[in-house]
Amino acid sequence: MVPLVDLHAQHAALGDELRAALDRVIRTSSFILGDELDAFEVEAREYFGVPHAIGLASGTDALHLALRALGIGEGDEVILPSFTFVATATAVHLAGATPVFADIDPTTFHLDPVSAGEAITERTRALLPVHLYGQPVALQPLRELAQSHGLRVIEDACQAHGARDGERRIGTLTDAGCFSFYPSKNLGCLGDGGLLLTRDAELADRVRRLRHHGQLGKHDHQTVGFTARLDGLQAAFLRAKLPHLDAWNERRRQLAERYTRALADLPLVLPHPTADHVYHLYVVRSGDRDALADHLRAAEIQTGIHYPQPVHRTEAFAGYGGGTDYPQSDAAAREVLSLPMFPELSESQQATVISAVRGFFG
Ligand SMILES: *Cc1c(COP(=O)(O)O)cnc(C)c1O
Repeated sequence: MVPLVDLHAQHAALGDELRAALDRVIRTSSFILGDELDAFEVEAREYFGVPHAIGLASGTDALHLALRALGIGEGDEVILPSFTFVATATAVHLAGATPVFADIDPTTFHLDPVSAGEAITERTRALLPVHLYGQPVALQPLRELAQSHGLRVIEDACQAHGARDGERRIGTLTDAGCFSFYPSKNLGCLGDGGLLLTRDAELADRVRRLRHHGQLGKHDHQTVGFTARLDGLQAAFLRAKLPHLDAWNERRRQLAERYTRALADLPLVLPHPTADHVYHLYVVRSGDRDALADHLRAAEIQTGIHYPQPVHRTEAFAGYGGGTDYPQSDAAAREVLSLPMFPELSESQQATVISAVRGFFG
């Protein structure tokens, strides 16, 4: 069997470092807001090249608290792509604001600046683009749109750890960059975790307060807050993993190039190649997607669909759809198929996938 993702391989290779991290946390009891979290935040700041990095309990919390700390809430609208993981929209809802969907660019699967522009109203406060599948969004058109309407921009970078836009890392290019450390992400912890990056010191203070019962100093409750800190134990695990992130991403890129070379002549749409893609997922498009997935399953190859429903089609968010159609999002949901992709995927496993995909097309 070739899995879509294999977490076991990575954790077996890092076993000693992860056990040392666990021992350290047991020894020091730095479970909540302790030395391990402080040290991870310093290391994350250095890695991402940004003045403020704040460890949070999940990627959803990072998005949610970013919105709250920017003062976005009830009566405000936030524009996001309808084709994303549901949590992008959940965060807007949790902040008390209204998620307003826009369509995607069919080549990149990213928030389409034209569709986003059409969705702007007097209540719009922010744009929330998603670096989907690990491919950096071209932010300039969205920044211009935001500037001309006085909007904030928040990056959902939950699938793009370590990706770059020129010299700078994704997640450092807007008001706030939000990451998830869900285990299967490019940088994952051994449970749930998240991170918010910003250059704005006041925003950083507000997020630090919000993640910890609304307090910065002890018994100094200025706002109502949450319990949304990254655990010390997860921070310790992440400190062991962060130094490997660039090498893992490089390996993902090599695997992606190999897929692309081997599948280029087939009637499939392959990922739009960009130098800085970190391939959280390797996603192909086919009009015959379900039959292709069945064929691969019969060959014991696991695939995934990210995502079978655009968010405005889900029952949970149907109330926010407003009866609008997002044809590119609907088409993507019908056609996308994720092939096995993780840094430890072996060449022989990948060759099995390639020959099975080629076999489907005869
Ligand atoms: C994983 C993910 C999230 C949410 O992260 P959690 O840590 O699971 O809360 C948000 N947006 C996108 C695009 C994601 O892939």
